[in-house]
Amino acid sequence: MANYKVEVDLMLCQGHGVCTEECPEVFEVVDMDSGYPKVRVKNEFPGEELRSKVQDAVDYCPNQTIKLVEID
Ligand code: SF4
Repeated sequence: MANYKVEVDLMLCQGHGVCTEECPEVFEVVDMDSGYPKVRVKNEFPGEELRSKVQDAVDYCPNQTIKLVEID
């Protein structure tokens, strides 16, 4: 059971793809209907084994798009 959830604010995402370099297990960048690339979260509950990589994506996303939200 994961202790955290991954959330993204698509309004902030500009499709840089830094997140996919930090944690490709959880993030990918896809072309949206608008024609602009945006992040897609492949797994909202990645588990503890990926926490440090998700945290790197949070820290290095240039637009502060990603949140790691603790859950009970
Ligand atoms: S979440 Fe951040 S790093 Fe990932 S594509 Fe969007 S802006 Fe870029």
